[in-house]
Amino acid sequence: MSSSVLVTGGAGYIGSITVERLAGAGHRVVVLDDLSKGHRAAVAPGVPLVVGGVGDVELVKRVLREHDVDSVIHFAAMSLVGESMERPGDYYEANVVHGARLLMAMAEAGVRKIVFSSSAGVYGEPETVPISESHPARPVNVYGDTKLAFERILEWQAASDDLRYVSLRYFNAAGASEKFGEDHRPETHLIPIVLEVAAGTRPELAVFGDDYETPDGTCIRDYIDVRDLSDAHIAAIDALGRGESGIYNLGNGEGWSVLNVIDAARSVTGKEIPWKMGRRRAGDPARLVASSSLAEKELGWTPEHPELEDMIGAAWDWMGRHPGGYPE
Ligand code: UDP
Repeated sequence: MSSSVLVTGGAGYIGSITVERLAGAGHRVVVLDDLSKGHRAAVAPGVPLVVGGVGDVELVKRVLREHDVDSVIHFAAMSLVGESMERPGDYYEANVVHGARLLMAMAEAGVRKIVFSSSAGVYGEPETVPISESHPARPVNVYGDTKLAFERILEWQAASDDLRYVSLRYFNAAGASEKFGEDHRPETHLIPIVLEVAAGTRPELAVFGDDYETPDGTCIRDYIDVRDLSDAHIAAIDALGRGESGIYNLGNGEGWSVLNVIDAARSVTGKEIPWKMGRRRAGDPARLVASSSLAEKELGWTPEHPELEDMIGAAWDWMGRHPGGYPE
């Protein structure tokens, strides 16, 4: 069934590719983004962009009504672990307070379905790996705590009225579609940084610590292709349409260390990637690897691009076509 979907943060990395794929799947889409991090050029042609904040209740209500929206996908957030440890107040304001205001606007406009862009960061330091949804949620950084706080608001709200929600706990998004990709300023994520070093636009890379309890001492993450991640949102919209709610992990079920990523990028690009060993970054768990079997079972979702080389190759191709990223 076709839906009319408001995508907050639809000019950002995962948002832009989800918008592209939602529109491709026949849904009507409108984007709300304040362009603090997103890019106008990242919004698919023909999709309306409203420039504004999710905390602006009157604006959100107007957009919901004017576009006859029935479902919201909520990406707009601050999303950097390191920054969250330095600016906790800003993170609670953007991710929790503004999120709560979005829910108020939805309630007032009678929109009762939401897909939330959550994070593996809600789990903290895992006790068991791979991590399933029943693993205790004890965040070790501010970012993860804000995502968990918003999930709790969703849970209480859904218990008190007819709100339905799907919360998607992403592991590490990577890659690009043909038209849209990753352009953060400044860039802090491992794969784009590694590729900038390969391209010669960044002199070198610092690996954040080799004294973790992992085979090579560097942190292990579960990288998931952004196209697969986006498709899970479309599956979630369909699940909400069937009256279902739930919380799902999205990952590959496989972990790669920082050094594995550098090796894979070297083989994909054929370039030298000089790196030096640096200090640990605050708030980094040693090993985050997902079990996504619940999403497979209940959303009917499976990753179509599970190979790290595929994701790095897609990101490298996108960078080649968009040197310097999106035009401003
Ligand atoms: N990382 C690194 N050097 C960098 C950027 C990231 O060693 O310049 C490490 C980081 O400590 C983490 C992994 O790469 O273990 C992935 O980090 P990223 O910021 O991409 O994603 P996160 O896991 O924080 O969501």
